[in-house]
Amino acid sequence: MSVQDVLKTIKEKNIEWVDFRFVDLSGRAHHITLPAREVDEETFVNGVAFDGSSIPGFRGIEESDMVMMPDPESVFIDPFTAHPTLNIMSDIYTPDGERYERDPRSIAAKAEAYLQQTGIGTAAFFAPESEFFIFDDVRYESTMNSSFFSVDSEEAAWNTNRKEEGGNLAFKVRVKGGYVPVAPVDSQQDIRSEMCRLLEEAGLRVERHHHEVATAGQAEINFRFDTLLKTADNLMVYKYIVHNTARQFGKVATFMPKPLFGDNGSGMHVHQSIFNGDEPLFYEKGGYANLSEMALNYIGGILYHAPALIALTNPSTNSFKRLVPGYEAPVNLVFSKGNRSAAIRIPVAAVTPKGCRIEFRTPDSTANPYLAFAAMLMAGLDGIKKKINPVELGYGPLDKNIYEMSDEEKSNIRSVPGSLDEALDALQADYEFLTEGGVFTKEFIDNFVALKRGEAKAVSMRVHPHEYGLYFDC
Ligand code: GLN
Ligand code: MG
Ligand code: MG
Ligand code: MG
Repeated sequence: MSVQDVLKTIKEKNIEWVDFRFVDLSGRAHHITLPAREVDEETFVNGVAFDGSSIPGFRGIEESDMVMMPDPESVFIDPFTAHPTLNIMSDIYTPDGERYERDPRSIAAKAEAYLQQTGIGTAAFFAPESEFFIFDDVRYESTMNSSFFSVDSEEAAWNTNRKEEGGNLAFKVRVKGGYVPVAPVDSQQDIRSEMCRLLEEAGLRVERHHHEVATAGQAEINFRFDTLLKTADNLMVYKYIVHNTARQFGKVATFMPKPLFGDNGSGMHVHQSIFNGDEPLFYEKGGYANLSEMALNYIGGILYHAPALIALTNPSTNSFKRLVPGYEAPVNLVFSKGNRSAAIRIPVAAVTPKGCRIEFRTPDSTANPYLAFAAMLMAGLDGIKKKINPVELGYGPLDKNIYEMSDEEKSNIRSVPGSLDEALDALQADYEFLTEGGVFTKEFIDNFVALKRGEAKAVSMRVHPHEYGLYFDC
């Protein structure tokens, strides 16, 4: 959409309010709302001011003035407001008219520009599968985690099923049996369908929705791939619509990677490929999983840099509670076709040359999508430039179930970092692939690491309920 199209939409749809949004370092959206009458061409030149010092990880109070520059390509009509409201995503600028180097959206745009500068391709396409839980009562779910003693999957399911008041109507999700049963076992179909309807109205093209494996009401909605920045914008719309639709149904949706101990967590697998114009560059008939050498090198880059990359794709303390064996979340830094226990899977079923892509399964939705997609692209491009061969480095292909391999067989396989702190250590030791072409700056990374170290410390300092089980009666 052009600026003129946006102004026309405001008139034609009787829009009363225009909501200007930006995204902070942690991937949360913030907004300031203006009367539609105050919005004109000038707004798209001068922007909308806000106080950057009140946003964690942004500027200090001594230099707090910031400006949102709306991107007319990103508008959608808010489906939740009582008053007709148009939402616009914005880039962040300093008062001097410079793009703010900590603005995640600006980093995503720089990564796209860098891809073109390298001459490797014209566009990188991304498609996230962002899983989430829909809970009835978040207090109940959080107390389950506070059990003094470890809860196994059977017990977790029992606890989840037990909470029904006024009688038990059966048709419960079995332990890890949530993958696509029909209603009444799947009690969330209407919520997901309503989410999808609103996503389509907001301009996303939904491809499917389904119940996910976890016992306690886990869901997944897939929408069509797009370019890096557009997909990150789409993911922000997706989360907004998922959260608010659940709220309208009197429920709560969470993208937290591991809300329940003993049950599957929620991932955000990210499908990725590079094109040169219309030509898909990841496909070559006859190779392993019909992958081109470029695709293999991209995989090499992602797996080589994975420990550092994960600080941006899994940037929460909770992320590492998901990345453990036994819950379909990847633990091992290898690639494979079809194998869901590998960090990178190559989907092969019914894939055409254009659909040929890699699926990095490690990320979760605590990632800021602008930063995470940019970082994955940078890792992949580094692999292409340096011709990192994942086979020579022993990263696969590995077509066995890694969870079932002996310790000896597994001894050469690298694992994901065990904690946020470990991932941050890896990032501090390996960040140059991100600063190529000035996409990320060292200053940005230092600031990001400091912010995340603070979160890790805040969690580790607190007394955990499980410590009572272990130590109370010593
Ligand atoms: N929930 C799993 C994860 O954490 C993925 C399950 C699936 O999509 N097969 O990644
Ligand atoms: Mg899926
Ligand atoms: Mg899934
Ligand atoms: Mg997947």
